[in-house]
Amino acid sequence: MGLPIWTPNIILLKLAAQETLSRKIKLLATQFFLKHIAYGAHSPLYRNDGTSSVKLTNKDSSALEQIFSAFNVDINHIIKFPITLDCLNIKCKIHLHSFLFQDKSLPKTTIESLFEDTIRTHFSNFFLIATDASKSQQITSIAGTSSTNSFAYRLQHLNTIFSAEALALCQALDELPNDENNLLLLTDSLSMLQALANLSIKSNKIILRLAAKIVTRKKFHQNIVLLWTPGHAGIKWNEKADNLARRVSESDLNIQWVTVEDIITQLKAHSENQTDATYRGSKYYATLGDIPSIQTIAPWLKNRREDIIIARIISRMIVTPALLLRFGLNDNPLCSMCKCDNSIEHILLYCRKYSLIRQSLCHCLHINLDSISMFKSFLSIICSSQHAIRALFSLLKFFDICCFFLPVLFLTHMVSCRRKL
Ligand SMILES: [Zn+2]
Repeated sequence: MGLPIWTPNIILLKLAAQETLSRKIKLLATQFFLKHIAYGAHSPLYRNDGTSSVKLTNKDSSALEQIFSAFNVDINHIIKFPITLDCLNIKCKIHLHSFLFQDKSLPKTTIESLFEDTIRTHFSNFFLIATDASKSQQITSIAGTSSTNSFAYRLQHLNTIFSAEALALCQALDELPNDENNLLLLTDSLSMLQALANLSIKSNKIILRLAAKIVTRKKFHQNIVLLWTPGHAGIKWNEKADNLARRVSESDLNIQWVTVEDIITQLKAHSENQTDATYRGSKYYATLGDIPSIQTIAPWLKNRREDIIIARIISRMIVTPALLLRFGLNDNPLCSMCKCDNSIEHILLYCRKYSLIRQSLCHCLHINLDSISMFKSFLSIICSSQHAIRALFSLLKFFDICCFFLPVLFLTHMVSCRRKL
C-alpha cells in the first residue's frame, strides 16, 4: 500500500481489509476440511464406508466442532456431493428467456397476461408447481405450492437466498408431484436457474443436489420443465408461494440442510469482522474513526501515486515536519505561522496559511468548516464519495505537504530510527 514500515499493524490490516496471517491460515485449513466433508465418499480423507481415513489432532477437531456449534450446524446436515455423477446430464428444459413474459421491464399487467397466454399455448397439459424462498433478519424460509397441495418450512438461517431457492425446488420435487406426466416448475430465482443450466462438477453443492433430484424424478415423469417467472409481477402462482414463505414463523418445522459454501461465506464475514473489532478496540480508532479499506476507495483513485497519498493521509503517515522530528530529521516541527505542531491534521484542518484553500474545499463538498473540525470527521467525509476524494486531490497541491518519494539515504536512516518509536 506504499505505507512506511513503521505503520502500526492494526491500521495496516484495517486498510488492507486483511486478517493476521495466523487467522488466515486457520481459515484456509477450516475451509479445506469443510470442503472435504462435503465431498464425502469422493474425498481421499474418507473411506468408502464414510469413516474418516485421517485423524485430526484434538486441537483441530475441537476447533472444527466449535465452528459447527457457533453456527448451530450438525455435520450430518451438510449437503454432500452426489454419490454418482449421473446428475451432470440432466435432461430437463430450462426456460430463462424463451417467452415474451420473461422480461422484467414490461408492465406488471402485461407480464401477467402474457404468462397466462404462454401457459395456455405451451403448457396446458402440465402440472404446475411454484416455489419461493424468503429471508428476513431472523428467519429464512421456503414454500412450494401446486393446485392440490402446499408446504412451507423454516430453513437453517445460514442459507443464502440462492441456496434457499434451490432447496425450495428440491423440497417441491420431493413433496408435490403425484403421477403427472409433465411437470412445470416455476421459480423467480434467475441466478439459481442459470447455475443449473451451467451445471458442472464444480457447481455449488446445492445445485448438484437439485440436479440429482431432477434426475431421480425424471424416472416418473415424461417431461420436467423449469420456467423462470419475474418476481413480484402479479403472477398469481408466484404470489401464492411468496405469501406462504413470508408467513413462516419460528414455530414452523425447521429444515437443517446447509451447504459448505454458505458456511465458508459466513466464516469469511466473521474473520473480517474480527479485524474491524481489533481496530475498534485500539487507540487509533479514537483519532482516525471508521476508516475505509483501500479496496473500497480504489475505484475513485487514478494511479498508484494517489493510492499511496490517500493511504498515508488516512493513516497519518504522510511526511510532515512533525513526523520528521520523531526521526531526528527536522529540528523545527512547528508551523512558522501558527507556532504549533505541523502535523497532517494541522495542515489540512487548522493552519491559517491554507484557510482560503480549505474554504474552497468545503465549498466543493457543500459542507461547513465546523463539520471538519476533527481529523476523523474529515476522513469520513473525504472517503465517503468519489466527488469528495476528487475534490481533495484537486486542491492537495496547494497544501504544502512534503513529497513522499524520499531519497534512499533518507529512507535507510528512517528505518534505522524505527526502534526509537
Ligand atoms: Zn499553521
